[in-house]
Amino acid sequence: MSITFSTEPSPITGFAFTCGHDNGRTEHRFGSYEDARVFLQGELDAHGYTGGLAVCGDVDCCSFGLMHIEAIESDPAPDLNVTNVNARHLLELLGLDSESDEGGCLSGSVSAEDFLGRVLLAQAVSPSDAGIPARQETGLGGVTIVHMGRPVGYSEDRLAALRELADFAINRRRTIQWC
Ligand SMILES: [Zn+2]
Repeated sequence: MSITFSTEPSPITGFAFTCGHDNGRTEHRFGSYEDARVFLQGELDAHGYTGGLAVCGDVDCCSFGLMHIEAIESDPAPDLNVTNVNARHLLELLGLDSESDEGGCLSGSVSAEDFLGRVLLAQAVSPSDAGIPARQETGLGGVTIVHMGRPVGYSEDRLAALRELADFAINRRRTIQWC
């Protein structure tokens, strides 16, 4: 499970396909999700897979892979993806609610100004993260449980990335979201 910090999305300008690789977005631009879905279904019906549309160069995607529909935003925001455990740590540093809802989901939103204020305060009061070493323990039935820990300097690194996100959001007058 992971959490992504970003802003509310910008207007969608069209739909393309992607295999999931960084360079995997096709040049298609469909005006609606439904048009993209019909086209993709046509490929699937004709070939049994949709990898013929892939542009990434990876043979697994290009021959037998499956493509997904991707909404193209006019002005995508930076995003920061972290594990749930680390998201909770960051939310605590920011003085934000780090409790999951009944569904076990950790999500929320605040104004860009509020978020920036919290990041600046966190940067001021928690200047250096000593990290948490990874460790193993043996659970019930001899199962090995690995706790991933947190690298030294983790908080500073991530707070700097959140600062960039906050600046972007203020600039664009967009709300910060995480989910
Ligand atoms: Zn690919």
